[in-house]
Amino acid sequence: MNPRARVLLLNPALGPLDYRVDPGQDVRPGSIVLAPLGPRQWTGVVWEADRMPSDAEVGDNRLRPLAGVYDLPPLGEPLRRLIEWTANYYLAPPAAVLRMALSSASALDGARTVTEYRATGRVPDRLTPQREQALERIGERQGLVRELAAIADVSDAVIRGLVKAGAIEAVEVSVDDPFLDPDPDHARPDLSADQAAVAGRLVEAVRAHAFQPFLLDGVTGSGKTEVYFEAVAEAIRQGRQTLVLLPEIALTEPFLKRFAARFGHAPIAWHSDLRQSQRRRAWRAIATGEAKVVVGARSALFLPYAKLGLIVVDEAHETSFKQEDGVMYHARDAAVMRGGFESCPVVLASATPAIETRQQVALGRYEELKLPGRYGVAQMPDINEVDLLRDPPPRGRWLAPTLVKAIEETLERKEQALLFLNRRGYAPLTLCRTCGHRFQCPNCTAWMVEHRLMARLACHHCGHVMPPPAFCPECKAEDSLVACGPGVERIADEASTLFPDAKTAVVTSDTLWSPAKAAEFVGRMEAGDIDIVIGTQLITKGYHFPNLTLVGVVDADLGLAGGDLRAAERSFQQIAQVAGRAGRGAKPGHVYIQTREPSAPVIRALVSGDAESFYAAETESRRAANAPPFGRYAAIIISSEKLEEAVETARLIGRTAPEVDGMHVFGPAPAPLAMLRGRHRQRLLVHARRALDVQDVIRQWLGALEWPRGVRVAVDVDPYSF
Ligand code: ADP
Ligand code: ZN
Repeated sequence: MNPRARVLLLNPALGPLDYRVDPGQDVRPGSIVLAPLGPRQWTGVVWEADRMPSDAEVGDNRLRPLAGVYDLPPLGEPLRRLIEWTANYYLAPPAAVLRMALSSASALDGARTVTEYRATGRVPDRLTPQREQALERIGERQGLVRELAAIADVSDAVIRGLVKAGAIEAVEVSVDDPFLDPDPDHARPDLSADQAAVAGRLVEAVRAHAFQPFLLDGVTGSGKTEVYFEAVAEAIRQGRQTLVLLPEIALTEPFLKRFAARFGHAPIAWHSDLRQSQRRRAWRAIATGEAKVVVGARSALFLPYAKLGLIVVDEAHETSFKQEDGVMYHARDAAVMRGGFESCPVVLASATPAIETRQQVALGRYEELKLPGRYGVAQMPDINEVDLLRDPPPRGRWLAPTLVKAIEETLERKEQALLFLNRRGYAPLTLCRTCGHRFQCPNCTAWMVEHRLMARLACHHCGHVMPPPAFCPECKAEDSLVACGPGVERIADEASTLFPDAKTAVVTSDTLWSPAKAAEFVGRMEAGDIDIVIGTQLITKGYHFPNLTLVGVVDADLGLAGGDLRAAERSFQQIAQVAGRAGRGAKPGHVYIQTREPSAPVIRALVSGDAESFYAAETESRRAANAPPFGRYAAIIISSEKLEEAVETARLIGRTAPEVDGMHVFGPAPAPLAMLRGRHRQRLLVHARRALDVQDVIRQWLGALEWPRGVRVAVDVDPYSF
């Protein structure tokens, strides 16, 4: 009999399947193969090679052979173990996790060149408005027809028309161009004594080629990046690869610049904005080991590194490391697991570590390395509270007189100010004054948010947009619609009214949606082209602007509303991070926190600078409630386009909940977003003690049930917010 290969196909509906391996096919665990299933062929990965079938199994002639083996390095064992762990721990189909590792079938294409397109500079004879828009938006950029069409927001046909008209031309791009190696000794900094001690410990760990998680805990501006760069340098010297995970793709651009200044060449960037040719080139270089340092958002964790020697998770407390759709995994936790499988150190860097991470330190599982002060002459900013009840802004305004005065003084000193409000758009709610009508998203339990810059109302959950209404759809009254509450655009308006000569910039995911936009913003800040930045959480981390000396937190109470388990912790982290943008150079920084609740523990901790007692109290209340990191949760989300079906299925699941010691099931009840993208959502919340294998319980529980085809049941293990 021929040997068999057990193959995991890129089809989330299926488990591993057996195929016949014919003589001459070089197949081993991790080999990337093409396998027939029904009428078509699927890409898959060999999970077990050389399986000799038992007598009870079907004979060779009943088994189809593999259709082919890709000319690519097989996925290594550590990555295969990570895929298995992720699928088991987060109750996800293994194929869905595998898909993240193969990233896109395009990475597997054997061709050595890709045909891309770019503008020639020639103006076509017939210049329609669409063609004009396309050429303007494409500018100097290059990519596949489909990529250019997406950039220009036109159809593929418009781009092809421009190719025919000679305004766009084809270029062959090689996916084999080598990457330039970073030089570990290019520009080594003189480390302070504190920094040198920490760097020394990390370098030692990189040399040991063994698993060791670290919490690199240092205040904002203490030189955490500079210090972990020493560990990166050591990994390069050892001929091993480094992965640096960042929470936002907007942060990759400044990171690349900084890295290039230290190591002579930029690392390989991995993010969703890559062109197909870049993606393919990077994927191959990572798989062969040619790529020495890779920086990316969470998806970079599942790439097929040939020889990983170090993983860094920067801003490790950030919530964006938790993926909220598809495979609902936490990249921080999965990164630590990968470090275990790869036998390499993992560095979690943060000025405001998550309580979960601090708990791992307390248990002795992670080693803590501390950088207590800012580097050089820079001091921590002074932090002031502004009591909005005693010092209220004028009617219809949001900036209190104290903060306005501080901005004025900052501008007089020719320094920069940052106003932080974690709300995109102009106003979170539009209301009819006559009849009380509120504009709600037709697909979600959410208000439509007014965006003046884009001249429309938008739902932040499903992306539904509508033009700004001229009258109330309910009572038809004109001039009766009012914007309620502020978003960043409204604060920018207020700043412009108060300081007409100041140059303002709004920084949100709407304005900084690509690395290129982020780079442009950094350039303008550095050139002094912006006096006041108004931004969401996107601006709170990573940036280093020495002339930025004032930070105003417009509404410190916003994050505390809702009563979420992590509300206080998250609020503390966010405000501490944004405060950390002030006074990073020689000039002293000042922070003003506007609040209606100056006695709230979060505000007290921030103003007094006593993070330790805040964390201690927060940790105690988690312990008392047996909440994470002491106990654990899993959310079961049941959704359907039909309310009835969702409710029925949720009840069925609730009714059949197993009686397990140390586990309690709450609900079903409508999920916090009771309707999302047109689907009604119900939720059950499972609370369990730490040691319980809650995944196994849920797997068996749900595995025994059936529900209608239109119902989706998703489990969110260690849900972030609920
Ligand atoms: P963190 O990551 O802790 O916020 P950074 O590594 O960004 O801190 O350091 C803050 C600033 O201080 C950066 O501009 C960095 O280049 C500078 N810096 C830190 N340590 C040194 C050093 N040893 N030599 C020169 N510059 C340093
Ligand atoms: Zn919506």
